[in-house]
Amino acid sequence: MTDMAELTRLTAAETAARIASGEVTAVEVTQAHLDRIDAVDEKVHAFLHVDREGALATAREVDAKRARGEKLGPLAGVPLALKDIFTTEGQPTTVGSKILEGWIPPYDATVTKRLKDADVVILGKTNMDEFAMGSSTENSAYGPTGNPWDLTRIPGGSGGGSSAALASFQAPLAIGTDTGGSIRQPAALTGTVGVKPTYGGVSRYGMVAFSSSLDQGGPCARTVLDAALLHEVIAGHDPMDSTSVDAPVPPVVEAARSGEVRGMRVGVVPELSGEGYQPGVMQRFDESVELLRELGAEIVEVSCPSFTRALAAYYLIAPSECSSNLARFDAMRYGLRVGDDGTRSAEEVTALTREAGFGDEVKRRVMLGTYALSSGYYDAYYGSAQKVRTLISRDFAKAFESVDVLVSPTAPTTAFPIGERADDPMAMYLADLCTIPSNLAGNAAMSLPCGLAPEDGLPVGLQIIAPAMADDRLYRVGAAVEAAFQARWGHPLLEEAPSL
Ligand code: GLN
Repeated sequence: MTDMAELTRLTAAETAARIASGEVTAVEVTQAHLDRIDAVDEKVHAFLHVDREGALATAREVDAKRARGEKLGPLAGVPLALKDIFTTEGQPTTVGSKILEGWIPPYDATVTKRLKDADVVILGKTNMDEFAMGSSTENSAYGPTGNPWDLTRIPGGSGGGSSAALASFQAPLAIGTDTGGSIRQPAALTGTVGVKPTYGGVSRYGMVAFSSSLDQGGPCARTVLDAALLHEVIAGHDPMDSTSVDAPVPPVVEAARSGEVRGMRVGVVPELSGEGYQPGVMQRFDESVELLRELGAEIVEVSCPSFTRALAAYYLIAPSECSSNLARFDAMRYGLRVGDDGTRSAEEVTALTREAGFGDEVKRRVMLGTYALSSGYYDAYYGSAQKVRTLISRDFAKAFESVDVLVSPTAPTTAFPIGERADDPMAMYLADLCTIPSNLAGNAAMSLPCGLAPEDGLPVGLQIIAPAMADDRLYRVGAAVEAAFQARWGHPLLEEAPSL
């Protein structure tokens, strides 16, 4: 007989195996997670919406399939927390914004559909910075999420809800989206694993658009293997997304199971270190590089000089694309409508609705983007940013001529206190210094835990970066590092987290 609370501590792979063998039912697993949500989420605020009925109905279906002797998929019956940026038929999708409050999408995103087809149990929708703009989840219109390691601190963003759900054992799997770091930076700050697949590797259909040339959905989990299993479920070509890559999904699960780095060439990027990096973060990063060397990897330094301009380019490209994407929130099509009393024109209603429905950061970006794209400024701003983007891609291409993967810290600091950077957009933007280059170039990257910073006892993330469509290398290196660290620590890092 399995202790029900213990079910929330298992990995997704273990959970699926126990369900498949009949040791536990999917309903028991789901109920254990719903109980955990009831017990802790008032404090954490990882979820915006919990779909108890839907989750239990899926779990019952999995148990019935098993009873009928049908073969179950590798994640059948495993609970998952879905970022509230993916449409879910019949369930709210707010993107953390008031402008979509009360909107019930009539269709499932491709990611949602693939999760359902794989019999994954969707527990609910997680909190996020409004329209995925932010690095702390404080820009959510529905209030901030706490970091399970210290509830007075941010869990990172924009996908802080998904990562906090993992770190507080409310779900073993989650989905995030990464436009400039929103999967990897929250993973780093919560001691979990997060992967931004190659751009186009996971369908964007039904994923509310922020910056379409950068947005990428991906897996979040507590182990590298769990992330790989989830990656395989959601990835692959989708005719509904014109930028979806029509090629086989890289062998990520096989790579996660192999975890061999002997003979691999690993590049350290000097531009992703130095001033502004917390000493404890650099200490853990340096130890990780040493560990890779001990494991048989060859370490070389590879300079990527254009990375120093990545942040500036990103904060022109992302706002420019968002100013166009968010034009669809016009009070006519979805969600909120303000001032429609029969006396006002459609334009006035649109303006009043956008004024009331968007938060400060979203408005700041729409204004910035509109300005950067306006005639006369286009070449100076957007055009220059696109040139920098090309230079960054060239830096990567050159680096990958001599190394298999690159490594860096995922974020320059550990989790900061709620409120500390809320009124300082520049300080907030700096959180994505190390993650943004991969979004601009479209290649694959992962964050995984590499220890706790000595000065504050908070998690530090190691970033691994691979060429486009070589996502499997992330998992190979990630699995090796994870196994070596766990052998050294004697347990997974999250066991060190103060229990809620
Ligand atoms: N923090 C970055 C931003 O605010 C990245 C967000 C993201 O990846 N969605 O734009």
